[in-house]
Amino acid sequence: MKARAKSSNTPCPIWVQGDYITEPPIRPVDGAKRPAGHYIDKGGYPGANVYEISIETLCRDTGAVDCRKRGIFESDILLYETEQEIGYFIIQDTETAVDIINGEILEIKELQTQDIKVIGNMIDFPDFVEGIRHCVDTEREVPYLPALDVMETPYPFLKMTCIKCGHVTLGCRYTAKHKDCEGYFTADFATKIYRKGEQKEKAFA
Ligand SMILES: [Zn+2]
Repeated sequence: MKARAKSSNTPCPIWVQGDYITEPPIRPVDGAKRPAGHYIDKGGYPGANVYEISIETLCRDTGAVDCRKRGIFESDILLYETEQEIGYFIIQDTETAVDIINGEILEIKELQTQDIKVIGNMIDFPDFVEGIRHCVDTEREVPYLPALDVMETPYPFLKMTCIKCGHVTLGCRYTAKHKDCEGYFTADFATKIYRKGEQKEKAFA
């Protein structure tokens, strides 16, 4: 079974992707036997790229891909974007996605590949749904977030403004709440980000 999960035998947990296995092969460097457990085999030389994983972070591959041909896994957070609208989906299992703005449940295969983009995962951003739901519930504009971690992307820093105390923070990762006062943030970018179609409209204006 293809999956991704966070490693548990590395100094820092890292995402590993490959085959989920419970009976690992011997370690090729010293021929050591490994106990049965939860592992991801990244492939390559037999037994050389086997990582022990935290089972609660296991996300199965749905077999679907996003607009960049990146695989879509369970618990992934997807931005849905057309020239007319934006939305966010959570991948619930290998077949279904949930629209977190209106609660609608859809089949992943109903989503148009060119309109969806994986922007993060609920394991890395556990408060994302809460943050977006807060915007919906308080009738604030839902932020346009084409990345939840802007490191290694061309996007500028995220600019988060606390609704409760007004504190402004710049960061590379999305957070729903201001730790100091428990107020919710509104999220934006340090410099303007254009949506699909927006630049075109501007050019013809
Ligand atoms: Zn605050």
